[in-house]
Amino acid sequence: PPPHDTDAPIRLTDNDAALAKLSAVRQNYLSDPFIKYFVPRASFQPPRPPLINVGTFVRTVAIDDLVDQWMNLSSEEGKKCQIVSLGAGSDTRFWQLATGPQKDCLSKYIEIDFLEITMKKAMAIKKNKDLSAVLGAAADVRLEQGGSALSSPLYHLLPADLRRDPSVALSSLTNVTGDAPPLLDPSLPTLLIFECVLVYMSPRESNALLQWFHAYFSSQGDGVLGAIVYEMFGLGDSFGRVMVSNLKTRNVSLPGADPYPTFESLPSRFLNLHYTSARALTLKDIRQAYIDPNDLDRINKLELLDEVEELNLVLDHYAITWGLSIVGSGNRKTFWD
Ligand code: SAM
Repeated sequence: PPPHDTDAPIRLTDNDAALAKLSAVRQNYLSDPFIKYFVPRASFQPPRPPLINVGTFVRTVAIDDLVDQWMNLSSEEGKKCQIVSLGAGSDTRFWQLATGPQKDCLSKYIEIDFLEITMKKAMAIKKNKDLSAVLGAAADVRLEQGGSALSSPLYHLLPADLRRDPSVALSSLTNVTGDAPPLLDPSLPTLLIFECVLVYMSPRESNALLQWFHAYFSSQGDGVLGAIVYEMFGLGDSFGRVMVSNLKTRNVSLPGADPYPTFESLPSRFLNLHYTSARALTLKDIRQAYIDPNDLDRINKLELLDEVEELNLVLDHYAITWGLSIVGSGNRKTFWD
């Protein structure tokens, strides 16, 4: 990359995430027939250490579970739902959902990332039959904006820098163009997913994003908005400082001080922006108390994990936080309560 391209290391983190996912799939922690299509030379990639595989497993099943519940609640309300994944990178959740038991509950799935990433992803989708067939008939799957965007009846991939003013960067989600309704229907239950992305922007920028979506869905009488954030936190302690310096050696900078130094401070991200409710769990707690014991038993047998203490230290610095904003009568109090 050119020397001035300070975002290149941030974009490279997508490669890490995809390699981690591929490794967890290869080692039988997770099942995902699609991730290999997004990793160049997939069959030559070495597996990641057991600790990383376990972390990837816990984070993935926990977010899957939240998404699952969101879709179930939508079905119970007789509504389809929309999902927007921000900083989606090479994520395959759309393909998993669209080929899974809840596919009929999905009204729209939108992914957003830097242009360089969406360009690569759009190309991979167009080139691969297993990926594009899920999107619909070939004629309905269109490359747009010089190949950096892709649209289909259900799935949309859009380039944007999420640090920019959302009303400009994300205007294509809410704009009415001619007779066409906006891409995002404000009357449908909508779930935002921020999987390991907000840490790359300042708290001011990430708050602006959450605020903007909140305002759009609040403008409707029955707006229901949920958001899931997966993130590191508590980076000020000794182990947290090691994690930050590891990132620094790879030129990934985390803007500003750690805005969420403690576990207790995590839900405040949502509550300060007037979301109705928020909760958080660390990956350590999720592994210990929320993963199906049969699953845990199964994955414990996959690989020898001799550094359990280190695993707990690492998992204790990652959390999933979810917030809910209810304007109308929608009853989602049970959302992972
Ligand atoms: N969410 C995916 C997952 O969990 O597999 C990818 C996570 S990866 C660690 C972070 C992603 O966020 C990268 O694809 C990166 O390009 C994207 N990202 C970071 N900052 C961004 C920004 N300001 N605008 C758009 N995308 C951004």
